[in-house]
Amino acid sequence: MKINEFFYALQGEGQLAGTPSVFIRLAGCPLRCRWCDTAYARDFQAGTDHTPESLLARMADFPTRHLVVTGGEPLAHEGLAAFLEVFAKAGYRITLETAALRFVADLPISLISISPKLSNSVDPDAPVAETDRLNIDAIGALIDAYRWQLKFVVDRPQDLDDIADCLGRLGPVDPERICLMPQAARRDDYIEKSIWLAEYCLQAGFCFSPRLHVMLHNGRPGK
Ligand code: SF4
Repeated sequence: MKINEFFYALQGEGQLAGTPSVFIRLAGCPLRCRWCDTAYARDFQAGTDHTPESLLARMADFPTRHLVVTGGEPLAHEGLAAFLEVFAKAGYRITLETAALRFVADLPISLISISPKLSNSVDPDAPVAETDRLNIDAIGALIDAYRWQLKFVVDRPQDLDDIADCLGRLGPVDPERICLMPQAARRDDYIEKSIWLAEYCLQAGFCFSPRLHVMLHNGRPGK
């Protein structure tokens, strides 16, 4: 598997924010989100080949049993289930972070963290059709198959209409598994957006997700 980054950090987002975690970032993503904070990982060749066994040996150095597999877009990779199986068999709980561009069955994971890509992600210089960035059928199938959370990136108040539309197309889902998080690469932007977004989460009954890596490291990669 082509690995772009391997590091140890606190999970920054979602239900497990604050959990010490090993991160494996797979190289490659077919999307080009306007605010992508891992553009260096989007090329499918932007990494080094590693076996899961070699990564497992390195993971023993860190005091955690939580692994986050992220990207890029992990679900774009063939052979993902067999790759993850090595870590699951060794006793790691695995969170898989994805934009859910397609459904993949039989992954040995304890949480799928789905970040649907809404219209606010579209880069006018590299536009992507809605059918290529938002696969409602795949999101629904992943929600049925795995323990899940939905994480929406919110850049501006009008994005909330887009989220309501996406949720309406998905059908009834538990609002406590829906996290909204501010789009921000820098600490000052994060704080400014957090204030109005937190108020909205209270009104709507959704969870507010922090972005600890932005608060703690102010946008530095590999943290
Ligand atoms: S899906 Fe993720 S990795 Fe891919 S372009 Fe969007 S933010 Fe970047």
